[in-house]
Amino acid sequence: MASSDTIFGRILRGEISCQEVYADDLCLAFRDVNPQAPVHVLVIPREPIPQLGEATAEHQALLGHLLLVAAKVARLEGLESWRTVINSGAEAGQTVFHLHLHVIGGRPLAWPPG
Ligand code: 5GP
Repeated sequence: MASSDTIFGRILRGEISCQEVYADDLCLAFRDVNPQAPVHVLVIPREPIPQLGEATAEHQALLGHLLLVAAKVARLEGLESWRTVINSGAEAGQTVFHLHLHVIGGRPLAWPPG
């Protein structure tokens, strides 16, 4: 399936609604529909990169931007501590093949993750 055909592609195109937290011309941040913590926001690039493992050197600036937006989202949500997770590949738990960063916080988080 082409990455632009994922559910996140449909959210980016406005075909499915989302609870937006932040947006700019490179990315969109919105609340996860199945939150794993009081704050659970997804940060996705507008460019449909399927997974981190398929990013290339040409995405370097975009990837840095996504990390800074994750920190911005945490600040917007009033978090002092939080976790940013990127699942890359099905065995790592990736279910939507459009690169996304999870921003999770608002409760104590255990380590290591399952
Ligand atoms: P992954 O498991 O691929 O790292 O994370 C995908 C995330 O997308 C999951 O946490 C899941 O709850 C979330 N998700 C899946 N479909 C939708 C949707 O239609 N809207 C929103 N807001 N989140 C979704």
